[in-house]
Amino acid sequence: PLVLGIETSCDETGIGIVRGRTLLANAIASSMDEHARYGGVVPEVAARAHLEALTPTIERALAEAGVELAELDGIAVTSGPGLAGALMVGVSAAKALAIALDRPLYAVNHLVGHVGADLLQGEGLREAVGAVGELELPTIALLVSGGHTSLLLVRDLIGDVELLGETIDDAAGEAFDKVARLLGLPYPGGPEIDRVAAAGDPGAIRFPRGLTRPKDLERHRYDFSFSGLKTSVARWVERFAAEHADDGVPIPVADVAASFREAVADVLLSKALAACAELGVPRLLLGGGVVANARVRELARERAAAAGVALRVPPLSLCTDNGAMIASIGAQLMRAGRAPSGLGFGADSTLPVTEVQVR
Ligand code: ATP
Ligand code: MG
Ligand code: FE
Repeated sequence: PLVLGIETSCDETGIGIVRGRTLLANAIASSMDEHARYGGVVPEVAARAHLEALTPTIERALAEAGVELAELDGIAVTSGPGLAGALMVGVSAAKALAIALDRPLYAVNHLVGHVGADLLQGEGLREAVGAVGELELPTIALLVSGGHTSLLLVRDLIGDVELLGETIDDAAGEAFDKVARLLGLPYPGGPEIDRVAAAGDPGAIRFPRGLTRPKDLERHRYDFSFSGLKTSVARWVERFAAEHADDGVPIPVADVAASFREAVADVLLSKALAACAELGVPRLLLGGGVVANARVRELARERAAAAGVALRVPPLSLCTDNGAMIASIGAQLMRAGRAPSGLGFGADSTLPVTEVQVR
């Protein structure tokens, strides 16, 4: 089926068009720059930006795919989790389109969408780092972005997704953004830390790995915590500055960035590969904006290879928030003959990952 997907859960207005598993268009507008001076996404600013960007982005996607609205077989939209006001803009637009075109509408879970991105096929979509061939199930999926850090066990993309663990405080991307800010680097901090860290020594400072002590593992085997790490970096920087108040030795930003990045990558991949081993699932799929991180990618490759785990990393344009991944799940739901969502659903900012489609 020809499906248009709408994604507005955070700061990207994403409109994707797929035919079954074939990607036809992936148009994105981002309000990231508008959030830069606040050091993080401001919900109302994001919602207003979606309202302005939606129609032009839909038009861009249609032109890119070379299809007309009337040809669409269905509409899919992210109904959660995410920022409530931002989600509402996409959900309203999707309902309007579904009614105007008289087509079925599917309300899709954003996190499951990140996994659905890996189904998409198209020219140049399979990256060198990823395994070739079909996505095999079950798979462990590690989703890391500015808004979430979740470890999933996916047995059936549209029927059986289990949450193994998630962050109990900050998301990994959020930690990158906050640490960048305290190091005086611009927003978004992830790419900046990555750039600066390239010249640093990852072993210079031993920052803590959250929830990896035996007593934490009992309760939080597959959960993550990054706020302690962030605080630890802040304390280290403060102490260094105090000690060098008189001699003017500058903060070794590259070493701090590299050591911090190492701690995040280490804990993310330790837990993901532990899940693969303990649950007997030798497959790992990565998703979310933090997958852009050079050390995360490198360590994923090294450790997956050592553990005999097949690693899949969708291309970055499909790892960050986008509408194509939502269209991908919509197409799967349609193909499986699932009933469309009624038009009474709303935006659910805390939608659990087990709820793949909202009715
Ligand atoms: P959501 O959480 O709803 O998916 P989001 O907008 O936060 O939304 P993405 O757009 O997928 O998610 O990712 C953005 C995040 O990824 C930011 O926190 C950014 O700092 C981080 N990020 C981007 N590039 C890198 C990188 N090279 N290293 C580390 N973090 C990165
Ligand atoms: Mg984003
Ligand atoms: Fe996302």
